[in-house]
Amino acid sequence: MNNIIELDNSYYIEILNRNNEIPVNTVDICHLSLIKVLKSKNIVLRIDFDKFNIRDYKRILKNLLRVKNVAKIINKEFGITEKEKKIIAYATNFNESNLKHKDFISGINAIFYKTRYERYNYIYDTVCNYLDGYFYGKNLCDFKNNKCGEKRNTSSTTGCCHHFKHKALGPFSKLVLCEYLNKESYTCDAKCLPCKLFTCDYLENKGIKFKIKDILLLDVFFNPIQKYFIKYMVFTPKDKILKRLMKL
Ligand code: SF4
Ligand code: SF4
Repeated sequence: MNNIIELDNSYYIEILNRNNEIPVNTVDICHLSLIKVLKSKNIVLRIDFDKFNIRDYKRILKNLLRVKNVAKIINKEFGITEKEKKIIAYATNFNESNLKHKDFISGINAIFYKTRYERYNYIYDTVCNYLDGYFYGKNLCDFKNNKCGEKRNTSSTTGCCHHFKHKALGPFSKLVLCEYLNKESYTCDAKCLPCKLFTCDYLENKGIKFKIKDILLLDVFFNPIQKYFIKYMVFTPKDKILKRLMKL
């Protein structure tokens, strides 16, 4: 068996090298259509990373999701079983140190979840892990004595984990620490993706900014209203955000 990528839900993608013959009866992922699905007994994809580029990723993944959903309704299966592994695709010219290639594979992984909730949960966790990894161990916010770079010359501590709380009576609101900030580890107990995506002027001046359209998993699988909530539902725990996304 050649190199193999294990996806979730017991699916696999087999990586072929230049000397391997591409198995017959595979469908080029770039030209996948419902007609081809109807004609195949089992749909096995062919992915040649040299045949398309990053600009095509969104279109190809959206099409695969649409076709996979229809295939499920008409009881057509993706994949063949080889040595007890369910192979859904053969890939050529895959470069495992190319992050864009890996993002594309994550998109395929997302598509083969059984339910929309499971897919959103996977995407949510994957993007959170990516953002956590981006910041981990770098002190990009330049915290010193519990004051970040943006708030250096103010009395404010613990970065931007504050929000305004409206008093029940009276016209004034008060700036309070977010209730999800872990007081011992100074980490977020809410796993709030919109907060993780937030970058203030200080970070942006350092060239750090996250745009939803640049994060493939968010860009492909969510509609504009969902993207709005992913950007603005700050100070909110993961379960509430997922619940909202499921309604949109
Ligand atoms: S994002 Fe900006 S405001 Fe928030 S902790 Fe970092 S430097 Fe401070
Ligand atoms: S929800 Fe947002 S503001 Fe609250 S602790 Fe988490 S990251 Fe900080």
